[in-house]
Amino acid sequence: MSAFDKNTQALVTQFGSDALAQRLLTTRIGVHTSDSRLSARLLGDVLADCIARLWPNIDFCGVWADRQLQTAESAVLSGSAPGTGLKVAWADSYDVVLQIGDERPPASAPLILRVAADGWMAYLGPEGHCSDEGNPVGPAFAAAIASAQVFRHVFRSELADIEPEAIDKLAFDVRQICGTPLAAAEELDLDGTVFMGTGAVTHALLWLLENWPKKATGAIDLVDPDPYGSSNGQRYAFMRPFAGKAMKVSALAERLRLAHPSLTVKPCDQDLNTYCQERGYALPIVRAVTGLDSPEARRQAALKLPQRTINLWTDEHRCGGSRFAPDGDAACLACEYVEDVTAAMDETAEFQLETGLQPQEVRQLLDASGHLTPEQAATVARHRGVPVEKLLDMPLRSVRPVLCASATVQVGADTPPADVPFAFSSLLAGVAGFMMLLSDLRVPQGSVGWNQHVFKAPSKFMHSPRYMRAGCACCSLVYADAAGVNG
Ligand SMILES: [Zn+2]
Repeated sequence: MSAFDKNTQALVTQFGSDALAQRLLTTRIGVHTSDSRLSARLLGDVLADCIARLWPNIDFCGVWADRQLQTAESAVLSGSAPGTGLKVAWADSYDVVLQIGDERPPASAPLILRVAADGWMAYLGPEGHCSDEGNPVGPAFAAAIASAQVFRHVFRSELADIEPEAIDKLAFDVRQICGTPLAAAEELDLDGTVFMGTGAVTHALLWLLENWPKKATGAIDLVDPDPYGSSNGQRYAFMRPFAGKAMKVSALAERLRLAHPSLTVKPCDQDLNTYCQERGYALPIVRAVTGLDSPEARRQAALKLPQRTINLWTDEHRCGGSRFAPDGDAACLACEYVEDVTAAMDETAEFQLETGLQPQEVRQLLDASGHLTPEQAATVARHRGVPVEKLLDMPLRSVRPVLCASATVQVGADTPPADVPFAFSSLLAGVAGFMMLLSDLRVPQGSVGWNQHVFKAPSKFMHSPRYMRAGCACCSLVYADAAGVNG
């Protein structure tokens, strides 16, 4: 079997769609870097990591080519995808070329997109330059938007319904976009922060913390009972390759300790209830960071009554970040996820819609924590266009993360739609969450939310204050009372 056939087979298994695999395999991407400064290096790192999780054929050329290849290979290994099409090389023509620096790449391509970043600033198109700034925020935001543009360019006819925008010129300050004008590149005292869930979006947030150029201090807890799974690497920005039953919290704790020796990181491989029980309710959670995979899990987290919460999420073509400092007026996390009683969508109905299973099957699986039978796995796989191997013998609640941070794309009229993992969505949500965290460290009051369509140009009007909602049990019973609003 030729290398091309092997790659095709691996991609078909990964995505469950022959047409999608062919499209990914026949797309050639070039990354050309002519800027040797620090923010160009960071930008190249994030870009290489983000695009290699989806695209199998990438040539790297220029000052950081070897480093970018290494980053891309690590990304590919973590997702058990084919990596034979990644090279330090250059050719005459590509489908997409990403240009870092001012030198025009010597190649023809239908899309040549220049990307730059400098501190909080992110640029697409002719404006802006990289610099010796070590702030990873601008580079990460610019890389995520550029990666989304690569996807938009190649799949523009498939995405036509959602009217994606071709962004050829953009310059913005991430602080302004996320509505966090006071965020500063300073030392971070993270004491008392509890990270609830360490999946795709939290991986992105923690990469920013790992690469933060200033000192981080304090004691933080990472709470997540799950080990890495074989499909995580397709969606988790900066996930590293793992061997055996590697726990997410342990791997992340080790990376953070290395990057910030003054930070005390406690990995807790347990579910949230067990964690809170052991911690004791007498010791309130000062700041929670919730990167969880369903509204129900977020409602559960809200019921732990953290004093403040940073929330980050992805949902099909949208992603976002918010922060909550409830005081009887400003919203809490639960206000954002108040169950819509008029829609009567309980957890069973949500799962039924997402998986295509019968309500009684869903209820049984949820109540008894049972695992999917081969027939049930086949039903979900057909319903969502994911390979059945990814779902076999899984508990139903673990199925959701497999379907998270991805969107359904139909390639070819007579093929079933496939779920495509969007590492750039998780990355964008991670940046937003990190900005909300910085903002909370500076001004721990008020509640604000931000969201972004990943295929549209960021605008500074997508953030807004969040106010307490009348139907929220946490606010009416606890936060308003504590603030003395109820008398
Ligand atoms: Zn509330």
